[in-house]
Amino acid sequence: MADARRSDAAPLVDGFGRVHRDLRISVTDRCNFRCTYCMPAEGLEWTPRDELLTYEELTRVARLCVERFGFDGIRLTGGEPTVRAGLEILVAQLADLGVDLALTTNGTRLTELAPALVAAGLRRINISLDSLRADRFAEITRRDELDAVLSGIDAALAAGLDPVKVNCVAMRGVNDDEIVDFADFGRERGVTVRFIEFMPLDAQGEWDRGQVLTKAEIVDAIAAVHPVEPVPGRGTEPAARFRYLDGRGEFGVIPSVTEAFCESCDRVRLTADGMLRHCLFATRELDLRALLRGDASDDEIAAAITAEVGAKWAGHQIGQVHFIRPARSMSQIGG
Ligand code: SAM
Ligand code: SF4
Repeated sequence: MADARRSDAAPLVDGFGRVHRDLRISVTDRCNFRCTYCMPAEGLEWTPRDELLTYEELTRVARLCVERFGFDGIRLTGGEPTVRAGLEILVAQLADLGVDLALTTNGTRLTELAPALVAAGLRRINISLDSLRADRFAEITRRDELDAVLSGIDAALAAGLDPVKVNCVAMRGVNDDEIVDFADFGRERGVTVRFIEFMPLDAQGEWDRGQVLTKAEIVDAIAAVHPVEPVPGRGTEPAARFRYLDGRGEFGVIPSVTEAFCESCDRVRLTADGMLRHCLFATRELDLRALLRGDASDDEIAAAITAEVGAKWAGHQIGQVHFIRPARSMSQIGG
């Protein structure tokens, strides 16, 4: 696997001195689930196929970020990335760039796809799972697929993906009584559970601060049963990590609401329809699809990305009076 970074790569720095090295690519805005905290039961208006970037276009942007700006991490997400046909083709193209390549998925198609994704060069995976109880899982996702996701986690482990992380959106009154169950699940299965604070990115606009189960509450609940200590050296990682004192692994919390980590953010996002966003919560986007399909040169595209990231704000300010919800929801942006 070649390292595509050029010796003259220049870091992509914003006005606050933050260096960007991580690209989140949304492969599709479609999904086979309808998680209540993400989209309505009837789904959303999907982007027409001809407006989605092709795998070649996605790879061109990724290559440019790696070669020109020295990016070293790429994560594929969505919508549900595994519902787009031939995902392993994109994985192979991106693996060729020699970066740390990861995938975020709801896990339903992994029994079928995990071996092919690994063969194509995928090394790491995050699988979303918000309840270990079949009835509650069906209520949250509006799909009766808990067994498929649990089998998907087993398939990811069996295929050699490492680490396998389980993402759980922690919500008061929804799954707050399962925090320790999730910790036990992670300890028993050898997977790292990462709890995510519920963010105001649901398409329905029903988010309420009171529903956010906070990092402090999550850590307290687990520490009361399994003693833990913080893992130092978070760097640009969104998750605050905690390890079990008995040596049986660790868990993480992504405290987007109560302890925003904007000052160390190194991420840019590419939506499935080709818009570059300098923040999950950005209220502006750069139309890269127009540039890609308008015969722009690599130099012109790189200059546009540099200008867009140069205009990145200090942070999203959730919970403060200045906060403005982005017009698009999580599945349309790419979480
Ligand atoms: N469909 C894939 C999945 O669910 O893993 C990938 C896309 S999904 C948008 C990415 C992650 O965002 C998932 O872990 C999901 O639970 C999380 N997510 C979606 N809406 C959220 C919200 N309003 N607040 C916090 N996390 C959210
Ligand atoms: Fe689909 Fe992921 Fe959103 Fe759930 S969180 S509806 S699986 S995109």
